[in-house]
Amino acid sequence: MDLLAATRNAGKLHEIRLLLAGSGILVRSLGDFPHLPEIEEDGDSFEANALKKAQTVAALTGLPTLADDSGLEVEALGGLPGVRSSRYAGETASDADNIRKLLTSMEGIPPSRRQAAFRCVMALCLPKKECRLFSGRLKGLILERERGSGGFGYDAVFMVPEYGKTLAELSTAIKNRISHRGKALQQVVDCLNRLPAATNDV
Ligand code: IMP
Repeated sequence: MDLLAATRNAGKLHEIRLLLAGSGILVRSLGDFPHLPEIEEDGDSFEANALKKAQTVAALTGLPTLADDSGLEVEALGGLPGVRSSRYAGETASDADNIRKLLTSMEGIPPSRRQAAFRCVMALCLPKKECRLFSGRLKGLILERERGSGGFGYDAVFMVPEYGKTLAELSTAIKNRISHRGKALQQVVDCLNRLPAATNDV
């Protein structure tokens, strides 16, 4: 079975391929389909964005398609930046801009009220079947300043209490195991592995 991962992000693709290694599923990416249009993430939930991407790409290619949407939800900010995580400080904001805006928005909020969670929703659309949604969450705390140099996005200010480290201080292997994306992806893999052979034959 070929599975099209509807992403141009090399890191996400690598993670998906690692988790599906040995499953007999060949993971292709949007890089193999350069003619496909850019799909705007204009939904008001992770679910809506993941579903829109997976349904659009599956309809255009006819291939089983997996798409995801993810972001950071901060309790004291009423769930922001949420679906706007990558554009929190503006349409062309960098990770550094977004972190700066987050820390400024949270100035004066004490450590006891800095709970947050990363969320990831994955949509899997298989030909002639209903699309299915899977989700993963990683809880943590937003620090007052950055720590660590790995990762991307908000990793350097997101502390994982069980490890006493930010995501930017943890190894990629540990991050992939505990992350919102890793957890959602594991459910997708379990679902794909349970498919009857006939369904796999597309
Ligand atoms: P998307 O799912 O690629 O649209 O990512 C949305 C945004 O959420 C990213 O640009 C990051 O700002 C943030 N984000 C999602 N997952 C992570 C993560 O694992 N670490 C840090 N930031 C993340």
